[in-house]
Amino acid sequence: MVIVKRKELSFAERLYLPEIFRALSLTFRNMFQREITRQYPEEPLPKTEVTRGQPRLVELEEGSLACVSCGLCEAACPAYAITIDGGETENFIEREPKLFEIDMLRCILCGFCEEACPKDAIFMSDELELAGFTRKGLVYGIDKLRRPRAALQKRIDYVYRINDRWRNSSSTH
Ligand code: SF4
Ligand code: SF4
Repeated sequence: MVIVKRKELSFAERLYLPEIFRALSLTFRNMFQREITRQYPEEPLPKTEVTRGQPRLVELEEGSLACVSCGLCEAACPAYAITIDGGETENFIEREPKLFEIDMLRCILCGFCEEACPKDAIFMSDELELAGFTRKGLVYGIDKLRRPRAALQKRIDYVYRINDRWRNSSSTH
């Protein structure tokens, strides 16, 4: 049998005084630190063109969608969040989505749809807030997804800049 000899505690240690003073000094020191708690939602999160919020569909000036319902974003989406049903338009050959839904509860804001789109028709917006009362209400259809191109312009410019950098660096090799 092994007998473990315990250290004899002083009177102060038996009253937890060293720990109490250590905790108080820590609290006291932190009282003068800069506050880092963000009072959300009164203090909203900073948003820049790098912010990858919920994906949105680009609406062209004439009011139609830039999307041609090719389905590439649907195939690229790792969360199976996108459902598209394509349809014809009155114009010869042109196609547009009859149904375009993104299940926001599934979307992981990865941006793969933005990268996959050959028509610059879907971009990550800076819209981060998401709330609803039903699961169905968070499956966004075309009406909730469409945004005028101008509303997404900062992000579009950023993506073009990034793609140009990539293209230029690969052309020098
Ligand atoms: S951001 Fe990612 S998860 Fe969300 S719809 Fe696009 S590809 Fe799917
Ligand atoms: S990849 Fe672009 S054009 Fe194709 S279905 Fe998706 S949003 Fe539409």
